[in-house]
Amino acid sequence: MEVLLENSVQPSFDPKNIWKECLKIIKDNLPLITYNTWFIPIKPLSFENKVLKIEVPNNFFIEWIDEHYKVLIDRVIYSVIGEGGKIIYVINKEKEDQLSIFDDEPISQTLINLDKKSGVQKADTNVESNLNPQYTFFNFIKGEGNQLARAAAVAIAENPGITSFNPFFVYGGVGLGKTHLVQAIGNEITRKFPSKKVIYLSTDTFTVEFVDSIQANKVNEFSNFYKSMDVLIIDDIQFLIGKERTQDLFFQIFNILHQSQKQIILTSDKPPKDLNGMSERLISRFQWGLTADVQPPDFETRMAILKNKSASFGIEISSEILEYIAANITSNIRELEGCLIRLLANSSLNSMNITFELAKKTVKEISTGKTTKVNIDFIASVVCEVLGVDENSLREKNRKKEIALARQIAMYLSKKLTNFSLKTIGLHFGGRDHSTVIHAFNSVEKQMKLDDNLRETVNSIKTKIEVMAG
Ligand code: ADP
Ligand code: MG
Repeated sequence: MEVLLENSVQPSFDPKNIWKECLKIIKDNLPLITYNTWFIPIKPLSFENKVLKIEVPNNFFIEWIDEHYKVLIDRVIYSVIGEGGKIIYVINKEKEDQLSIFDDEPISQTLINLDKKSGVQKADTNVESNLNPQYTFFNFIKGEGNQLARAAAVAIAENPGITSFNPFFVYGGVGLGKTHLVQAIGNEITRKFPSKKVIYLSTDTFTVEFVDSIQANKVNEFSNFYKSMDVLIIDDIQFLIGKERTQDLFFQIFNILHQSQKQIILTSDKPPKDLNGMSERLISRFQWGLTADVQPPDFETRMAILKNKSASFGIEISSEILEYIAANITSNIRELEGCLIRLLANSSLNSMNITFELAKKTVKEISTGKTTKVNIDFIASVVCEVLGVDENSLREKNRKKEIALARQIAMYLSKKLTNFSLKTIGLHFGGRDHSTVIHAFNSVEKQMKLDDNLRETVNSIKTKIEVMAG
């Protein structure tokens, strides 16, 4: 946003003038009807010590404005009043009772505190952020599928913790840019606010560290470390499913960070409400801020990504070839990049120019490579990883419900994704015979029709296998 970032106004200014300045920016950023409905009725009351008190018609007004225009107001206040600026809403003439009106509302809802320094300790400079500096906004291509997620990400990077996008929850299929986008936020914040403590980690790392800390009797240290962050980015939060103790601890960390307006950023393969096995209180918190999805890229976006990538490799590839790749590799961006890299590899390994023929051959390799690389053991390992089951147990006589189900799903996917015979598949699962495999196949297929969760789980495992093998 093109707002003045200098502290331009002195504390003794007339509230009317301050509010007028605010309105100018607000008006430029909203449709006129919205502006007239929600902002014209507001009256400035006082301005003292960087606190602007304004009067609104009723409580609903506050809630509406806070829910829909908080980001804008935060920025406006910051640009007009400067660091430490605050806005207080007061209903009608009840100026003195401003806080008692919101008995059961958190004060933060009525008091927008922009003093970013308050309560923040000086950051340790040596906190390892784990960020990959290559993931930036600059090289993140904007497309229809990621528009909202990207816009929100940029807004968060400008004002971490104080936009209403907290937590910021990005979800979508594999290889669609979730990790890239959330790391771009982290990198941008690190660049803009070098003193902020930013950390990125996968849910798996978080879980492993937590388990280690239990063993080392250092759970407090572990949790205090994360509670001291300004920006916490956790990738693939769906892997907390089924890990109740880790969920409990994460819940505490979440609350502390959120209360102190620290930014929380999460990614997941599905929206919060579909995270079966995640505690309800976490699911509800995941929905507190902004949930945005990333969708597979359309043709134009795929072209733009290919062009950008090839340029970053310093090579020129004809549009004809890029179009061919973009038309044939459609489901995810990681595959798209993989194809380009393989094309380059093919060209340099064989000392050939990048020709249309070579591109065709490479695309074909990628498509056929998929079916040959996927084998039964690989399928079993992905199924076990996703369902949190020990791989060996699939080969044992174990009849525990979750193990039996994992075994059946692994058999089902082996039949679907490979050309191996029922007999061979049975042999991989502890020497079961072919009728067991048929039974498993039919049973999973039937249950998938009846049970949405199961269908989604199986489909997501399938996608994962296909992408990993891609
Ligand atoms: P996810 O976390 O959703 O599985 P990633 O963020 O790992 O996906 O993205 C996979 C690859 O695709 C990465 O190399 C990333 O840089 C690239 N990528 C994804 N989305 C975009 C985009 N919009 N523009 C450029 N590159 C992208
Ligand atoms: Mg990822």
